[in-house]
Amino acid sequence: MDEGHTGVYEDALCRVREIGESAGIEAEVIESLLRPRQVLTCSLPVRMDDGSVNYFTGYRCQYNDVLGPTKGGIRFHPDVTDEEVKALALWMTLKCALVGLPFGGAKGGVVVQPKALSPMELERLSRAYVRAMADFIGPQVDIPAPDVYTNARIMGWMMDEYEAIRRVRSPGVITGKPVRLGGSLGREEATGRGAYICIRELAKRKGWQPDQIRVAVQGFGNAAYHVARLLARDGYKVVAISDSKGGIYSEQGFDIESLWQEKQKSRQVRAVYCEQSVCQLVEHKEISNEELLALDVDLLIPAALEGVIHSGNVESVRASTLVEVANGPVEAEAEHWLDEQGITVVPDVLANAGGVTVSYFEWVQNRTGYPWSLEQVRERLETQMGEAFDRVWHLSQTEARTLRGAAYSVALRRIGEAVTAHGTREYFGGQDG
Ligand code: NAD
Repeated sequence: MDEGHTGVYEDALCRVREIGESAGIEAEVIESLLRPRQVLTCSLPVRMDDGSVNYFTGYRCQYNDVLGPTKGGIRFHPDVTDEEVKALALWMTLKCALVGLPFGGAKGGVVVQPKALSPMELERLSRAYVRAMADFIGPQVDIPAPDVYTNARIMGWMMDEYEAIRRVRSPGVITGKPVRLGGSLGREEATGRGAYICIRELAKRKGWQPDQIRVAVQGFGNAAYHVARLLARDGYKVVAISDSKGGIYSEQGFDIESLWQEKQKSRQVRAVYCEQSVCQLVEHKEISNEELLALDVDLLIPAALEGVIHSGNVESVRASTLVEVANGPVEAEAEHWLDEQGITVVPDVLANAGGVTVSYFEWVQNRTGYPWSLEQVRERLETQMGEAFDRVWHLSQTEARTLRGAAYSVALRRIGEAVTAHGTREYFGGQDG
């Protein structure tokens, strides 16, 4: 997977340039997206359980705030780099614009293997991150959220630390919090549910029968679990699933709920189904993550990390549709091959936008002090995602664009309207130089 990290930001910039130019976006607008507004790098001292102090590197990138305060998750992962954070923050900028949220894009990360930390070390690290960032983030400025290997509990610690520093209640500083600490109902499942809505809309247009569709999912974290669970509920056959250690495959398809329970207990992806105290191993084949990507399935859902499909392995992809639940799982060069083969790619900026959409709902609830019911959250998510999917699909048909081309065009046009509202070169009379 490391291979995919090379040039991830450069890759992201190329796509913006290429798609922006082909969609006739003003040069000034494209230019405004070719650099981040600001990036903070800091060293986070953390007292370890054995009494020693470790220094972890933390990042926060606020990419572009023309549409509103910046918004984006915090990742705890050993491969985090400032290039990766910038790419993720650029994608957040496009995603928020595409779904019509009043937010710009940001992202944060810490270079750490969180599995090697004790719960107390993890708490100290999370608090240290906020101490370093307290003047950089804020409910009207930049609002973090969970991402890979961070979760609701960590968001709760971070909010608590921010409030202790500011000496004021400030739930809107971070989203994805536990519900009792001001989080929103439906946030936990939101990314997976948003992806599920996209797949359901795509299925209508492609005339799919769910029980005829075989699905492979890479990753089995928050986003992957919920999309797999909702698809299985509709009758889709999830025949393969994996985590960082490898995957499993079964022609019959898996019961996702049992796999999830087992993963919570043993921290492993194992096909063990339990009824009360009786457990049985379900027949399956062990496969690698690389083999999972090459399976002969209808729908492939990369839902772990970026860059997993690159020029070195793209020609082994056999699925006819790819839904990018992870951010940036397909490198730009590899995507050209997928397009040539007629493989449909539902891009990350659309497929995983459910998470930030419900984060926005959480922020609105925090600011108004009025919590919504789960039904209200789901209904509004349906509307927001349904409209975004419709718009992207329609544009892809009328302008003969790929779904990514259409999604970027919608986002860039919206960002462009905000940029030109301030006046561009043309307005200020500089056409002749
Ligand atoms: P998570 O920490 O809950 O899960 C990550 C999963 O990826 C785990 O199952 C882990 O085992 C697996 N994984 C890690 N390294 C792997 C590897 N080398 N090969 C295969 N699997 C590997 O994270 P998440 O929140 O589900 O995020 C997954 C993806 O979805 C990321 O790309 C993230 O940016 C994106 N995303 C998440 C959200 C959100 O709200 N959580 C929103 C938008 C996008």
